[in-house]
Amino acid sequence: MKRLLILFITFCFVSPVMLAQSFEIERIEPEFWWTGFAKTELQLLVYGEDIGKTRVHIDQPGVYLRQSIAVENPNYLFVYLDVTENASSGDFTITFRSDSKTLQQTYTLHEREGSENRHQGFDSSDVIYLVMPDRFANGDPSNDEIPGMIEGVDMDEPYARKGGDIKGILDNLGYIRDLGMTAVWLNPIFENDMPYNYDIGAGFYHGYAATDMYRVDRRFGTNEEFVELVQTSQDMGMKVIMDMIHNHVGTHHWFIKDMPASDWVHDQSVVGNTNYRTDTLMDPYASEADLRSTVKGWFVDEMPDLNQKNPLLADYLIQNTIWWIEYSGIDGIRMDTHPYPYKEYMAEWSRRILEEYPDFNIVGEVWMQNVATTAWWQYDFPTQSGYNSYLPSVTDFPLYRSIVSGLNEGAGWDTGLARIYYTLGQDFLYTDPFLNVIFVDNHDLTRFMTSVGEDSAKFKLGIVLLLTTRGIPQIYYGTEIMKMGGANDPDKRRLFPGGWEHHEINAFTEEGRKQLGEKRNLPIPEVYELVRKLSEWRKGKDVIHTGKLTHFIPENNVYVFFRHNEGETVMVILNGDDESKELNTARFSEFLYKYRIGRDVITGTETDIRQNVQILPRSALIFELR
Ligand code: CA
Repeated sequence: MKRLLILFITFCFVSPVMLAQSFEIERIEPEFWWTGFAKTELQLLVYGEDIGKTRVHIDQPGVYLRQSIAVENPNYLFVYLDVTENASSGDFTITFRSDSKTLQQTYTLHEREGSENRHQGFDSSDVIYLVMPDRFANGDPSNDEIPGMIEGVDMDEPYARKGGDIKGILDNLGYIRDLGMTAVWLNPIFENDMPYNYDIGAGFYHGYAATDMYRVDRRFGTNEEFVELVQTSQDMGMKVIMDMIHNHVGTHHWFIKDMPASDWVHDQSVVGNTNYRTDTLMDPYASEADLRSTVKGWFVDEMPDLNQKNPLLADYLIQNTIWWIEYSGIDGIRMDTHPYPYKEYMAEWSRRILEEYPDFNIVGEVWMQNVATTAWWQYDFPTQSGYNSYLPSVTDFPLYRSIVSGLNEGAGWDTGLARIYYTLGQDFLYTDPFLNVIFVDNHDLTRFMTSVGEDSAKFKLGIVLLLTTRGIPQIYYGTEIMKMGGANDPDKRRLFPGGWEHHEINAFTEEGRKQLGEKRNLPIPEVYELVRKLSEWRKGKDVIHTGKLTHFIPENNVYVFFRHNEGETVMVILNGDDESKELNTARFSEFLYKYRIGRDVITGTETDIRQNVQILPRSALIFELR
């Protein structure tokens, strides 16, 4: 009866015309903004039923309405404001009006905070610690299951969430600082409320399929907790690097479920999935078909490929980045799949960030095979078309590959440690190779200990090289305790021991690392100490941050290089061979002529470097020369 009555009322009183005149506001993004940016234009994405059919009015000194843009989907309205330098912080009213309804919405402009201790950027004076939030530490079991969110925790299923969170990272910042790290990079923390299918490996604990780019996934914590993490890290002398993705979002992103326009994403039924061959972007012989597939193809079926050529989307994404930098105070960004979106968009994105935050740094995940194709992505590379990426830092996959191959193979003309020598020798291609982010593993790569065939000696050689050569070293969580794991995603993203209550061994403690080493018969305390000691030592060493690199052609798989500036010289000797070597140092006289003593950075012992130097099989010596 009641239902009949409602039907009757609806039928009598709600005419089609009136339906069109009613409207709702469900969300406005960004939720708030700031005064005082170089670029005064502000885009507001307003979402709600039939909001696109309204007229907008603003009466606020210093804030002007430039235009409001309705799109294919009437549930969207893009309102462009000019927040001039005369705008003052505080609340103001935006009025939305249809013929029969008026809605007043309060919007807030904050004053920008000072930049002291915020947005510091990162460079070769840093060592970055990479954390996968779901797999590091579960500091708050109460957020493991969130009512209304699709996926909870399943400790038995490798592709499932494990409950790690921001609180877990916050609780262990002391551990990260004590390891000598100066920056923390978190894999993405945006909401990923995605349906999973573990059978096909579709789990989204990794964070690369955003369903809301303005919200921290509640299973990791809240936006406020993230800000607390950034501030606490900075107070402890560490920077924070946020992971972002503009190539794609998740299929359950709220704006994918009700798309603003049909060109918001590339049509997968037309373009299919990407060929993952980003070399097409600079290949002078690339076909249109291959190029189209690279850029427009979807990364995977669960990740719709965004069309950044839609100017409304491009503005939305750039603003989202600036919002997070200003809101949280982060010091840097790691951009996922950097070559996959339109490169013109990526250049504008970088340019805009650096315009607002000149000290900031961005590293693009440029997963290329060669030095030339990697260097192409760094700012000011002399591209044939004149394209400039404005990207300061690139991920150094060529060096990574050379380290792993070089440590695993025998010495030859261009094999063994010579591989590293030849790769670094191509640094003339980079605008600034000292800004390259360098690594021996990360969340997408086989764990380093597994890469080197579980050989502790090779492992330590890699660590020494990483922390003494040019570039910005990055340590993947657990590498300092020799974690192993193959190429499968869950395998290389195993839990940090001690991060969960049920763990018997807590590797965050010295005692735990000792136990772990005994259990696995590995020199874990020694490796931890190597990472810690070198990272701590390197903190105050300008000669390692910015000093020149000079290296000598490897002989008998012994690679010798010097880091030097006006005041200091550091000599690094890597023996990649199975046999002990007696190194005649006469060959290095261009550096050694003014020194007599080499002080071993690890052991503190002093060696007469004018005599032959003994070096054990597969071992390293780092000498500060005196
Ligand atoms: Ca948790």
